Amino acid sequence: MKKIIFNRCSLFIILAALLCACQPKKSSFQYNVDKFYDLEILRYNVPEFDSLSLQQKTLVYYLSEAALWGRDILFDQNGRYNLRIRRTCEALYEKMINGELQVTDDEFEAFERYLKRVWFSNGIHHHYSEDKFLPEFDRDWFVAVCDKAGIAYDEALLPVMFDPEVMPKRTTQQDGVDLVLGSAGNYYGEGVTQAEAEKWYADHKDNSPEPLWIGLNSQLVKNDKGEIEERVYKVGGLYSEALEKIVFYLRKAYDFAENDKQRLAIAKMIEFNETGDLKTFNEYCIAWVRDLNSRVDFVNGFTETYSDPLGITGAWESMVNFKDLEATKRTQLISDNAQWFEDNSTTDPRFKKEEVKGVTAKVITAAILAGDCYPATPIGINLPNANWIRKEYGSKSVTIDNLMHAYNEAAKGNGFNEEFMIDDAIREIYDKYGAICGDLHTDLHECVGHGSGKLMPGVSKDALKEHASTIEEARADLFGLYYLGDPKLVELGLLPDNEAFKAGYYQQMMNGLMTQLVRIEPGKDIEEAHMRNRQLIANWVLAHVTPTSPELAIIEREGKHYLKIYDYQGLRRLYGELLAEIQRITSEGDYPAAKAMVEKYAVKVNEDLHREILARYEKLNLAPYKGFVNPVYTPVYDADGNISDVKIDFTEGYSEQHMRYSRDYSNLPDIN
Ligand code: ZN
Repeated sequence: MKKIIFNRCSLFIILAALLCACQPKKSSFQYNVDKFYDLEILRYNVPEFDSLSLQQKTLVYYLSEAALWGRDILFDQNGRYNLRIRRTCEALYEKMINGELQVTDDEFEAFERYLKRVWFSNGIHHHYSEDKFLPEFDRDWFVAVCDKAGIAYDEALLPVMFDPEVMPKRTTQQDGVDLVLGSAGNYYGEGVTQAEAEKWYADHKDNSPEPLWIGLNSQLVKNDKGEIEERVYKVGGLYSEALEKIVFYLRKAYDFAENDKQRLAIAKMIEFNETGDLKTFNEYCIAWVRDLNSRVDFVNGFTETYSDPLGITGAWESMVNFKDLEATKRTQLISDNAQWFEDNSTTDPRFKKEEVKGVTAKVITAAILAGDCYPATPIGINLPNANWIRKEYGSKSVTIDNLMHAYNEAAKGNGFNEEFMIDDAIREIYDKYGAICGDLHTDLHECVGHGSGKLMPGVSKDALKEHASTIEEARADLFGLYYLGDPKLVELGLLPDNEAFKAGYYQQMMNGLMTQLVRIEPGKDIEEAHMRNRQLIANWVLAHVTPTSPELAIIEREGKHYLKIYDYQGLRRLYGELLAEIQRITSEGDYPAAKAMVEKYAVKVNEDLHREILARYEKLNLAPYKGFVNPVYTPVYDADGNISDVKIDFTEGYSEQHMRYSRDYSNLPDIN
């Protein structure tokens, strides 16, 4: 079963298209870049970059170089053929653009769409569903154009690219399937089985009070004798070439660190990349979480474990960012009131934390996205992942406002709310308060939701097993939803009035009951934990409305279904009831109840409604998934060769950017 780390949500993804506001007014910044298949590429602005000092700008520049050098690592982690496929396709693409290779317009477009998808997914599996996508061109055509262009390709790529039966899923969680053998990801070498990997992890598990995260930075492979061996990601080890570049730029960044705490964190990350020593990684995490005063901050390394079928090894990612000073005041206020939120929630007093601590909150502006954060990206970060460090040293929780802002701006006037919201009254409320509710709910979820509550003595953090993630996300979401409707937020000045929360409530219910289904293919179940959580909440609420006077209902008008909310305070009460139950399940480690709850409300899709939603959505011609292009940072040097300024540019296109990255930031061998 997938191992889930309790009490974290470092990567939560929104339905960007569903957060849209309706006003067709747009600012002059060009947010929309490209669109293909179910994907839309946006551009994000980096407001306040020019307000940074030269030292801070230089730091951002070097950290962004360290970020971009990790791109190949993720491609290889996502599948051992990915680099070869990407490079072969890029070589062809280059010749097509140069006119050295003649193909028809249709052929070119089909080929370009495939390559764009490979870039987007950092490999050949859909970034979200994790299913392999197939090219629109066939094997014979591909072989013929390679031959015509004189481009050598590896025969082994052909079945991987074209045979739907080969490596169909990047990370499988299917019951009855060997999770390791059944997953195309490259976290385990060829032939390694789930049982072998699990045994290796069990044999090497560190049970000390300050445990090492064994397996975080390595691939398990089988040697000639059939024994399991660990290949560590480090300079001199696996992915050495890329990690050497990363270390080089981290060293440059070190010289421009803002203070000693940040210097220590950077030094520890350098050392970790050089040695692969997990004790150093723990020291890095502690140093990083203690650095609260720097304006510029970064993540760079093997971080989230969702893509490893056993949930141990981290996918490489990087994000460089700096504090949004104005918006951070908002989350600080929430953080300052963490104890009040804990004390006043609907959960049983036995499950409350006597003392809520370690919740720091800030809002950041992303400056560069890379690895597992690019092109698709989280809108919040909550790290580190090691539970004992979170407990003893706290964690950093951030929301990324400029990305949220880009989603909202790009979606304006796209017709979504006109199609799915029931009437003008709710559309007006949503136009007015949708964005602020979205921000606030995210803040509450991240800053106080995940950190709330406690386990009963003796309850294991792994007690809810494969349902832990869904239940944990539901717990944090419900905590946020319950308080979104609390007059306390108006009192604190976080919401303008007592009507604003309705925008957030309507959005959550509409999304959970109906509109998030646009991301699910017909006939499929919901698998992703955040989506399961949203449907769990919405379906549970719908099943528990007061029969005599329902708080809300799904009603039909001219063959279309809409959500109607009659009683928002009643809905808040239902959120509170469910929060209490979800907290009980978590605190007591009640696995049977978690399983029953998830299976009843979170997984299965109402097929008729699903069909209808898909048909209505298709007419809008929108893309359910979004990703980004990065800005381009260019240093300006003075006569002595020192950086005297860093220029930021937003004009680079999607294909242009990826071709440049592949040219300038790609040094791993085809086979690692
Ligand atoms: Zn979360």
